[in-house]
Amino acid sequence: MAWEFATDPEFEEQLVWMREFVREEIWPIEAVEHELDQAQLDRIYAPLHERVKERGLWAAHLPPDLGGQGFGQVKLGLMNEILGTSIYAPNAFGCQAPDSGNSEIIALAGTEEQKERWLYPLLGGELKSAFSMTEPETAGSDPTQLRTLAVRQPDGGYVLNGHKWFTSNGSIADFLVVMAVTDPNAKPHERASMFIVPVDTPGVNLVRDVPNMEHPLEHFGMLGGHTEILYEDVRLGADALLGKEGEGFLISQHRLVPGRIHHCMRWLGVARRAFDMMCERALYREVRGGLLREKQTVQNWIADSAAEMQAARLMTLHAAWKIDRYGSSAARHDVSLIKFFGAKVMHDVVDRALQLHGGLGYSTDMPLEKLYRYARHARFVDGADEVHRESVARRILRGYEAPPGNVPTEYVPARREAARRKFAHVLDAVAAK
Ligand SMILES: Cc1cc2nc3c(=O)[nH]c(=O)nc-3n(C[C@H](O)[C@H](O)[C@H](O)COP(=O)(O)OP(=O)(O)OC[C@H]3O[C@@H](n4cnc5c(N)ncnc54)[C@H](O)[C@@H]3O)c2cc1C
Repeated sequence: MAWEFATDPEFEEQLVWMREFVREEIWPIEAVEHELDQAQLDRIYAPLHERVKERGLWAAHLPPDLGGQGFGQVKLGLMNEILGTSIYAPNAFGCQAPDSGNSEIIALAGTEEQKERWLYPLLGGELKSAFSMTEPETAGSDPTQLRTLAVRQPDGGYVLNGHKWFTSNGSIADFLVVMAVTDPNAKPHERASMFIVPVDTPGVNLVRDVPNMEHPLEHFGMLGGHTEILYEDVRLGADALLGKEGEGFLISQHRLVPGRIHHCMRWLGVARRAFDMMCERALYREVRGGLLREKQTVQNWIADSAAEMQAARLMTLHAAWKIDRYGSSAARHDVSLIKFFGAKVMHDVVDRALQLHGGLGYSTDMPLEKLYRYARHARFVDGADEVHRESVARRILRGYEAPPGNVPTEYVPARREAARRKFAHVLDAVAAK
């Protein structure tokens, strides 16, 4: 029996430090974010990066030979639960998306030259990156439809043409990891390849940061912007190709499965923050001669939220444990489960907390309206919930078959007949009395 739910005391100490650090040093950034430009934000981060490095927590998602901590997914999960409480926290720890995923794939598939040029400066915080896959004209939920094309040239280089959007951090990135079709006639999952494209390459046109629910007003060139990009006759050397031609999906799969553990744990951090606000509100807001905490609906919301967060947390940590023990492929089913379940838990807890704050919750005097807008996107990014549900259901149904003659296995009249035959000796004896 090897079930273990305890955290190593040493790592627990790190978690305690992280909780305090994120609350004291990172949360305050949120309150002045609209007054900061990217250069000022970078200045705030610089000393924080040093403290995180001194603590041995920088870029913890990578193995030690790449300057990371080699934590494994369970520890990373626990860490990301804390970092999730603020969108500014991952950046202070060198594990912000999309840099974290990009560093993983360059570590996995990059040549030594690519690592020197892109990976190590990325890990050192000297460069920023973005991941450019989704296109406005094709369904992001089905990337086998990608249209962006990279055509190989006689000199071994490529010419890239395409239209992308929602390339997160594209407008502050130094380089883009671009997914493009290299062989339109190959099998669906072998058509695309990945390329490292410096953002200042001629033909890379940053059109805008797309205004969205999280950032409704257009604001170009800030952390967290989602950039629309036109790639127009972008000439790339052969050294831009990451991995081999046709390996784009294979490489991105390595990035996605553990990445979802981190996202789900971050969503739990968001849910926890909303939950704390909900509980606090229940203790002081008076309605009709009583506090909110005395109303059964409020009690139900608190109890249901606690149960749902606990369930999502255990499911996610279990999936993390499975990856650590058996590898990413073994945990694909579990990771799909937590993707849509975790997204719903975050959404519902934030929604209840906002509701309990009434007008105050809807106002920007509380962070809840922002968390609510943030929570909404989780239901369709990282694979739309519907896609994950579909794959979970398909996998489950593979373990079943239709009953002979379409008579349900549990059909009581048939079972009764069978049971009468089975117990005939007893039933006959009773009847003979
Ligand atoms: C905040 C944010 C950050 C992002 N960052 C990046 C990034 O850095 N890089 C990048 O390349 N992209 C990024 N994206 C894009 C994101 O990956 C896509 O939005 C996502 O994959 C969905 O693709 P789509 O928008 O084209 O929607 P579609 O694929 O058109 O899907 C729309 C809806 O169709 C339904 N649907 C889809 N498939 C099925 C199905 N099989 N069964 C039933 N219903 C289905 C779902 O309801 C789904 O929400 C980001 C998006 C957001 C919102």
